[in-house]
Amino acid sequence: MSEYIKFSCERVAPGIASFGGLADLNAYRRKLLRLRLIGMDPNGIGFGNLSVRDGATDKFYITGSATGGITELTLADCAKVVACDFKRNRVRYEGSAPPSSESLTHAAIYASDAGAGAAIHCHDSKLWAAVLNQAPTTSKAAAYGTPEMAYEIMRLFTASDVRRREIFVMAGHEGGIVTFGKDLE
Ligand SMILES: [Zn+2]
Repeated sequence: MSEYIKFSCERVAPGIASFGGLADLNAYRRKLLRLRLIGMDPNGIGFGNLSVRDGATDKFYITGSATGGITELTLADCAKVVACDFKRNRVRYEGSAPPSSESLTHAAIYASDAGAGAAIHCHDSKLWAAVLNQAPTTSKAAAYGTPEMAYEIMRLFTASDVRRREIFVMAGHEGGIVTFGKDLE
């Protein structure tokens, strides 16, 4: 088992240009907020994140760190991840908000499935308990926001039917569920 490597990110441009998916992203965020699948926990910590792929590239737009409690996101609340280093748990991004510390979870999906155009990571303890080990599930030893989690996700794409089911559970991140598909819908 490797030691815990903290997520780090390097900003390579101070802002991002408007992108077509932002209105859609806000529309689906509003639904998720209403369902309390993303939001703010009682300690004021935001949870949940959404991303959309930038065309046919491996780059993607993702909600910024600590934006879970915000109702309507602006461009300043989003980051564009332009490069990933899974081993070192590091990303390069553009934008004024740092990307979610779970960015490599999203990156692992886009790297594994060319058909994936959007991904959502949400929290729900009841749903998590119900689908744990029923849907494809990452190892309990893999904590959120670690290289181990990213590699676990890649493993699921070769060792399970996650590509068809478009959902997986994070055993080592209580409440953590991820779903993805060609678009946010
Ligand atoms: Zn999470």
